[in-house]
Amino acid sequence: MSNLDERLRQVQERTATAARRAGRDPAAVTLVAVSKRKPAADILAAARLGQLDFGENYVQELRTKQEDPALRELPLRWHYIGPLQRNKVRHIVGNAALLHAIDSVSLLDEIEKRSAQAGLQSACLLQVNLSGEATKSGCAPADCQALARHALALPHVALRGLMTMPAPCDDPEESRPVFVALRALRDQLAERLATTQLTELSMGMSDDFEVAVEEGATLVRVGSLIFGARI
Ligand SMILES: *Cc1c(COP(=O)(O)O)cnc(C)c1O
Repeated sequence: MSNLDERLRQVQERTATAARRAGRDPAAVTLVAVSKRKPAADILAAARLGQLDFGENYVQELRTKQEDPALRELPLRWHYIGPLQRNKVRHIVGNAALLHAIDSVSLLDEIEKRSAQAGLQSACLLQVNLSGEATKSGCAPADCQALARHALALPHVALRGLMTMPAPCDDPEESRPVFVALRALRDQLAERLATTQLTELSMGMSDDFEVAVEEGATLVRVGSLIFGARI
């Protein structure tokens, strides 16, 4: 077994174990393998082991990998997890299963416009900045309700839930309150906006995905633990 095989299996196993520990069905958690800055050969190797969900941060890189002859015919689901610029929306609409990091009305409006033109619906998550760092992307928790209300009114946007990215830390337990808060915010929005559509919580990365699963993550985004450190 290659290193990648071994690492992928370990992450899959640890994800399932964390789910069971929390009394959850392991099938309710999707592992998104974050393949940014990693070659198509690594994606192919992971896909051969049944890993079909991949996360990318750069629109051009995602498109290039999608069109790679080695990957083109595979039933892969591409997740766009990075901050999205308005002028890149037209290149990603129709090419990603889920947009994880939407954080403004102008971005939502552009996704609506381009999705309508393409005759499809784009599945989106709202990124929430719960650590309060000024430089980080994501909407403020206080703005989340207005943003969600706006998204729910757009016919070509399918709002599916929330995403967050805690500040980097040494101890995964430091992320736990952030994951608890994202889930609470989702529950509050679902009630106030009377929607059952907000089923997804995208939270947890290499350093803290097990804690995220314990707190209700339905999508974990794990990169370096599977593919090795990025240069
Ligand atoms: C890079 C990245 C990840 C994966 O990070 P690792 O620490 O390598 O697991 C997850 N989510 C987002 C938004 C990222 O940019």
